[in-house]
Parts: sequence; structure tokens; C-alpha cells
Amino acid sequence: MFKSLPLLEKSIRNQFVKMVVALTIIICVTALAFFLYVKSMNQSLKAERESLQEKAVLVEKLEASFQDIFFRSRGYYAFQNEQELKLLYDELAEFEHLLLQFSALDLTPEERELYNSLVEFNTNYKQKVLPKAIGFVEANDYKSLRQLSNSGTNDLVNKFVDYAKDYKDKTDDELNRIFKKTIKQAQQFTLYAFMISCFILLLMAIIMWRVLHNVIRPVEQLTSATNAIATGHSFELGPLVKREDELGLLADSFQFMSKSIQEKEEVLMAQNEELTAQQVELQENQEQLQHSLNQQQKYNQLNHALTFTLDKRKLVTGVHKYLNDLYSFDTSIMYVLEGNVYVSKGLSEQTTQKLVGMLDENKRVRLEQEKSFVITREVTPESQEIAKEPYYCYDLYSSVLNSSGQLVAVLIATREGHRFSTHELEEINGLMNRVSLAFERILMYEEVERSRQLNQDIMDNVNEGIQFVSVTGDVIQVNESLCQIVRCPDWITRKTVHKHTWLDHFQLLCDQPTELTSFFEQAIAEDFKRTRTTRYEISREEGHVFIEVYATSVYEEAEKVGTVFVHRDITKEYEVDQMKSELVSTVSHELRTPLSSVLGFTELLLTKTVKPERQKKYIETIHKEAKRLTNLINDFLDLQRMESGRQQYHMQPLAFDELAFDIVNRFRHEKHHHVHLIDQARCVEVKADQERIVQVLMNLVGNAIKFSPDGGDVVISLENVDDTLQVSIKDEGIGIPANDLTKLFQKFKRIDNSARRKIGGTGLGLAISKEIITKHDGDIWIESEEGQGTTIYFQLPLMNQSLSEQTMKSVEAGVEQKGLQVMIVEDDLSLGLLLSEELKSKGFTVIYHNDPKRAFEDALRIPLVGVVIDLMLGEEMNGWDLVQKLKETDETSEIPIVISSALDQVKETVEKYKIDKYLTKPYPPEELSKVLTTFLLSESSNGNVMFPNEQE
Ligand code: ADP
Repeated sequence: MFKSLPLLEKSIRNQFVKMVVALTIIICVTALAFFLYVKSMNQSLKAERESLQEKAVLVEKLEASFQDIFFRSRGYYAFQNEQELKLLYDELAEFEHLLLQFSALDLTPEERELYNSLVEFNTNYKQKVLPKAIGFVEANDYKSLRQLSNSGTNDLVNKFVDYAKDYKDKTDDELNRIFKKTIKQAQQFTLYAFMISCFILLLMAIIMWRVLHNVIRPVEQLTSATNAIATGHSFELGPLVKREDELGLLADSFQFMSKSIQEKEEVLMAQNEELTAQQVELQENQEQLQHSLNQQQKYNQLNHALTFTLDKRKLVTGVHKYLNDLYSFDTSIMYVLEGNVYVSKGLSEQTTQKLVGMLDENKRVRLEQEKSFVITREVTPESQEIAKEPYYCYDLYSSVLNSSGQLVAVLIATREGHRFSTHELEEINGLMNRVSLAFERILMYEEVERSRQLNQDIMDNVNEGIQFVSVTGDVIQVNESLCQIVRCPDWITRKTVHKHTWLDHFQLLCDQPTELTSFFEQAIAEDFKRTRTTRYEISREEGHVFIEVYATSVYEEAEKVGTVFVHRDITKEYEVDQMKSELVSTVSHELRTPLSSVLGFTELLLTKTVKPERQKKYIETIHKEAKRLTNLINDFLDLQRMESGRQQYHMQPLAFDELAFDIVNRFRHEKHHHVHLIDQARCVEVKADQERIVQVLMNLVGNAIKFSPDGGDVVISLENVDDTLQVSIKDEGIGIPANDLTKLFQKFKRIDNSARRKIGGTGLGLAISKEIITKHDGDIWIESEEGQGTTIYFQLPLMNQSLSEQTMKSVEAGVEQKGLQVMIVEDDLSLGLLLSEELKSKGFTVIYHNDPKRAFEDALRIPLVGVVIDLMLGEEMNGWDLVQKLKETDETSEIPIVISSALDQVKETVEKYKIDKYLTKPYPPEELSKVLTTFLLSESSNGNVMFPNEQE
């Protein structure tokens, strides 16, 4: 179709190659010729310069040698020195040698002439003049010698020297000339080189112009032709087509190509139209597909609802929506006959609720028989606002039946003027069949769920913790009680609890983790028919909990499917057990010990005759031990009575401070222990059974004394805390270990250690006290530090007046003296009480003592604002002794002292001890508080320090 490129003779490439080759040859030849010419010119000039320089050097050397000859000869003549003569001959030889060199050069006629005269001189001098001169010297004939030197030899020398000078000048001139010639030549060469370059540039410009004309212009033509094709215009290539080179070829093919493009374009246009039509068709198909996809999606949703939904409401809603989407009902309702489950469309909530369950009996029967039917009714225009002509409404009734063919749910749907086709009815029937199946499934599920819930409820109401573990060890079911025991409320909601999770939990929970874990693991892993049991213990803040676990394998058709663990809280039983053994040990000890003494001593008295004093001692012991026995039995019976509720309490108003004074009094004869009272309570009225409260106080103070074997103070304190009266009994005894503190209120609970073994007891005292205090709506507790002492507190509710009212009153009365402590030393209990009441009502804290010695000890320790002293106190120490001691001791000398005595005032003694106030009994109690208040005011105004130094 196309001309092949290599066949072209006038191809652009050939032309271009030829031009470039010709240009290269021209440049090379010109450059070579120019180079050779320059080189030959330079060489001739160089040769000329060198020969000139050589001659000049030789002439210079000849001149020097000539002068040396005469210098040596004169040396010889003057001094007749043979050495000089020898050097003269050497110089002559050198001169000859230089002459020979000179003659070998290319000489001008003038130079040749000089040469000849020098040769002649040499010959003449050597052969004639020198031998003659030597002869004259040797003959010492200097006259002849001078004649000989004047004979013209010297002329020759001078002539030669002049010549040599001329010659040098000439040579310099010549060299200058040659140098100038060289410069001129170089300038000429530069000119030639420039001309040659211009010529070459011209050639190149010609070549470029040809390229432009022959290649670029046609290419431009082709480009505009291409543009013309692209924009759909016609074009003309003209002479370009006729050319016989590549561009001609290109233009040819271009024309051919454009023709074929035009033809193909028409074909393409036709195809394009066809494709557009196909695309429209495809789009329609796609829309159809999308529609069916949507339908399919809805259908899938319905299927999902039918297959998986376990909620009736969700199912009814899903089915109703699907049917509405598909069959475009105008109004519809679907509801379940039992339960309040319904959904509607196009109906108000009121109408919907009215319609639910209002299905008439005939329609119900018909639905059960036919599954679905349609009722057509005519709608008259009167009732309608828009429709002018009568039209028909089609009411569809369709049923959901259970397995025994009874109606469970119903669909009622209406279409206005749009009847249900047979195909649609068939479809709806098929669907409602499936809905019936789904309903059946939901009903079954509900039944299963109900029974499962019932099972769980039964399990949760069992007191024991139940835990069902699969064969893999995971917990599958637990009840509430177990969750409470292990304190993991979330286990009940979890589907499974992994083996390691619950085993780890038990490890942390119980006190014997390894035994319990191996029990669990064996029970899970092994097959066993009998029940296995173990026990474990949990330590909690509120105390220890003891649990017994039973493990039983569960079988399904002889295959083990898991293990049931039943956890039973046996703490109560355990404690009863413990109590039993404690009771046995107490009874055996506490009964046997006194009994053995009683028996031993009675036997002794029966069998032996004993001295009367001894007899008395024995009988006293027997009496003491018998009393101990009675106490034990009384305690035991008391507790028994209280616990069984048979104990009668005779509650009556009780002034606690009085009671406390009484108790202190009862212990006044204790040798090693000093019992005293600190009364800080403003309100002390409680409602209580006096006998029982005394029993409590006797127990507690008795314990305080009993467990302080080394003696010490026992302080009963009264104070008001939050509308209660708080009583505390503090001792300095052996104390109680911290971990036993909570247990001590249990029956028969005693601490078993060497320090206590000697101290008797039943372990019932605290239990009885707690029982009594609890019955009084109070609270009791212990604080203790081992080796330091114990404080037992109890609180009782105050009777009538609340504490805050009381406080308000005292504040209003301006008598608030909070925390200021006054000591009363008085052996008359009722007077002591009276004074104490008065002082407390003014806000003082009262420390009551009946023993002056102990009172002094306390005064050393406690900061006091005053001491009230009765003078007649006891045999050992009376009131004045106490005053003296107080005044003598630095720490207490400043405490103001009030004497309260039935004795008359003895002026000297009062002055001697600087008694601040002397009150003679009887005096009104307000007098005392007035006196104390005056002390306070005057002390604070004159700045005296009133408190004794606090002691450690
Ligand atoms: P009992 O005194 O007959 O042993 P209680 O019930 O009164 O029985 O006391 C129980 C235990 O509490 C005592 O055995 C003793 O170990 C301890 N206890 C009670 N009060 C004190 C106390 N004030 N100091 C030290 N330990 C005490």
C-alpha cells in the first residue's frame, strides 16, 4: 500500500547525509591546508633565527678567545712565566677550533673575508710573531719585543674587536626584524581563520535553510491538515503529495488515512446509535432488578422474622408491614387474640383498640374453616366527600391458626375499589400458613422459657448455693444464693463462667484454696455415683463463714453431662458446735474445780478432827466455792431465761449517775483497784430495768478488775453522745487481742491463753450484758489494746428530753462551762450526788472520789478548775491531810480549794492552807457553783495559771 522507505532516492535522509558529509570534508581540508601553511612559515623563520644566533655566539666566543691570547702573551712577556706560555698555546688551539666551527656555517662574503683574515692572523702569529717574541723574551730583549708588538699585530686585534661589536649589533637588528615578521604573520593567520569560519557558517546556514524549507514547512502543513480533520473541515495538501521523499509518502498516507477515517466514522456513528438503544434497555433491566432486589430484601426480612423472632409483637409488626408493602392495603389491622398485641395502618388508636378482639363468632368459625375470605361491600357516595359514584370496598379476613386449628391471630385488610386477585389471595394464604408456623414456634418457646424461669425461681429460692458445671468445667447455671455466697452477682446473668475464672475466684475467696480446687477438679473430671462432700471457710469483715459443698455427677442416659455443686452455709451449725465444745470445757472446768474443793474439804471435815480455826477456814472455802457454783448456774439460767424471752424487764425512769455512784461505792473496798467515776453527762435519765443494768455494770466492772491482775484504775465515765447516754468502763489490765474482739459477746467465749488460765469465768458475762443492753435498745462494744487495757462502751437512749434541747437551755442560761473538770471528794454518797448534779447542770465535768488518796493521785494527772473537799473522810487520811498534800505539791498547789464540811470554820487552819472558800454544811448547792464560777472569772482576769501541770 505504501512506498517502502529504502527505495527512495531523493529521500530527506540521503540529502541530509550528503550535505553533512560535504560540509565535513570542506571543513577538514581547509583546516589541514591552513595548518600546514602556518607550520612551514613558522619553521623557516625559526631556522633563520637559530643560524643568526649561532653565528653571533661563535663571533662572541672568537672575540673572547682572541683577547685571551693577547692577555696570556702579555703575561708571558712581562713575567716570562712558562705556565702563561702554556695557557697561551691552549688558547691558540681553542681559537683554531672555534675558527673551524665558524667556517662550517653558512657565511656571507663579508664574513668569509673576516674568516680568511683571522686564519691568516692565526697562521702568522703562530708561526712567525710568537716564536720571534719568545726569542726576544728569552734574550730579555724588550726593545725588540716592543718593536715587534708595534709592527701591526695589535691593529688586527683592535680591528677584530670592532668588527665583533658591529657584528653583534647587526645580529640584534636582524633578530628584531625576524620577530616583527613573526607577529605580522600571526595576524595574517588569524584573519585567514576568521574568513574560513565565516565561510563554514555560511555553508551551515544554507543547510539549515534547506532543512527548514524541505522538512519543517511540510510538517506544519500536515499539522494544520490534522487539525482540519479533527474539526471536520476539508484540507488541501497540494504539491506536497507529489514530492518523492518521506514527506511526500507521509502526505500520501495521511490523505489515504483521512479518507478511511471518514468512512469508518460513519460506521461508528451507526454502531453508537445501536449502543445507546442497548443502554436504555439495560437501564430498564437494572431498575427492574433493583425493584426485585428490594422485594427480595423485604422478603428476607420477613423470613428472618418468621424464622428467628421470639417476640409476638415483632413478628406481627414485621408481617403486617410486609403485607402492606406488597398489597397496598388502604386500612388494615392485625392482632393476636390473647394478650394486647396489635398493629394497624390507616386507623386511629381508638378505632384500633375497639377493633381488637371484636371479631364476631361467625367470622371466627369461618376463618377457622376457610383460613381466609373476602367480603365485598358497596360504598355509597353520600358518605364520601370526594367520590361521586358508588364504588366497592374489599375486606380481606385472613387467619393465623395454631397446631390444633384454633384461631390465634387475625389480619383484616381493606382495599377501596381494588379487588384481590386469586393469585394474591393464594399468596397471602401461603404466607399466613408460614406465620402460623412461626406463632407455633413462639408459643413453644414461651412455654420452654416459662418452665426455665420456674426452674430458676425454684433454684433461687433454695437457701443453698447451686452451681451446675459442664464436663469441660465451665459453670452453666447458678442460683442467687451461690452468687451471694461467692459475692459475684453477675454470674447469674452470664451464659457461662469459664473454668479458670470461677476456680481462680474460689482460690482468692476461701481460706484453704488448694484443697477446694482439687475437690472441684476431681468432681468435674471423675465419674462417681455417690455424693462427695468437703468444707471451706471464707474470712469476711463481719466474721468467718463456713460452707459445706456437696458434689453430684449428673447423667443423661448413662453419660455424664456435668456436675452439680451444692454450697450450704453451715456457719450457725458450726458455731453451735463450737459453743457446745466450749460449754463442755467450761462446765467441766468451772463445775469440777469448785466441786472438787467442796468434796475434798467436806470429806476432810467428815473423816478427820480438825482444829476449830481450820474448820472455819475450810467451811469458808466450801462456802466460797458453793457460791461460785451458784453464780455459774445463775448466769447460765439468766441467759437461758433471756434467750427464751421469759425474762421480765421492769422498765422505769432511772438516774444513771446515782446508779454509777452506787456501783463505785460497792467497789470502794477493793484493795488493788481504784474504781472511780468521771461524770460529764448533762442528761442521765434513762428508762431501764435497774436490776438488770446493775447486773451489767457489776459484770463489766467485775471483768475490769478480774482482768487487771496487777491492779490499776477502773474509770466509769458517763457522757452524752447524740441523744444517748454513753457509759464506758476503762481498765489498765491485760487487754484483748484485736482478732478476738468481735467474738467475745458469744456465749461461753473465752480467750484461752496462759495469762488468763488462772482467771476463772464462764464466758457468759458479756453475752448476758449484750442481751440486756440490746433489750434496752442500746448498743455495746469493746475497744482494747493487748497489754494496755480495755474499754467497754455501751449506749442507752435518753429518756424524755433530747440532748440538743438540754444543751440549748444551758447555752441560753450562759452557764456553758464545757470540759472544765471539778473534783468532789465526799464520802456521803447522797451529798456527793447532789453537788455533782448542781455542777453538771452548770456545765462542769465532775470527778467523784470518796478516797482522798486516790483523789490526790487523780489531781496530779487531771487538769482541774477546783477541788471540793469534805473534811471527815476516813481513818487513814482526812480532808485536811488531802488539802495539805495538794498545797505542798507544786503541780497541785495552785488549784482552788473549796472546803465543804459540817465542822465549823477554824480561822487559823483556813489561813494556813490559804483555803479559797469554806462552806459549812448545810449550804444550798448553787452556792458551790457560784463560788467556782467566781474563781474562774477572777483567775482569768488576773491571769493566774489555774490548771495543774498535766502529767504523763
Ligand atoms: P468471763 O469473764 O466469765 O470469762 P465474760 O463473758 O465476762 O466471761 O468475758 C468473756 C471473755 O472476755 C473473758 O474470758 C476475757 O477473756 C475477756 N474479757 C472481758 N472483759 C475483759 C477485760 N476488761 N479485759 C480483758 N479481757 C476481758
